[in-house]
Amino acid sequence: MKALKLDHVGIAVENLEESLKLYSGLLGLDLAGTELVEEQKVRTAFLPIAGTELELLESTDPEGPIGKFIANRGPGVQHLAFRVDDIEAALAELKSSGIRLIDEKPRYGAGGARIAFLHPKSTGGVLVELCERKA
Ligand code: ZN
Repeated sequence: MKALKLDHVGIAVENLEESLKLYSGLLGLDLAGTELVEEQKVRTAFLPIAGTELELLESTDPEGPIGKFIANRGPGVQHLAFRVDDIEAALAELKSSGIRLIDEKPRYGAGGARIAFLHPKSTGGVLVELCERKA
């Protein structure tokens, strides 16, 4: 497989509006939109820059993945997402190479993307997301 690009950097935040004051207000990034992703128990904001994006993630439920992440480690960089053109093929190839998968099958993330996470224990402590999208 070959990752096509760094699709986005996921950042866990305590409060989306407060974080937008920094990223959009002070750093001047454009806000592409916000979205509630029920399945992930998050509210997200996407801020494109130079061919990639920041994905700000605010938890909507302390039991969700971002709620737990912030409880354990505090807010901060949470994952790196790499764009792939065929997520099933990429997962199969990584699995056969010994990479532990969090998601054996893709699920839906923000923007209708199909996503799957690799286990940080297999990736040097970095939570890696694979992301397949049409555009
Ligand atoms: Zn993501």
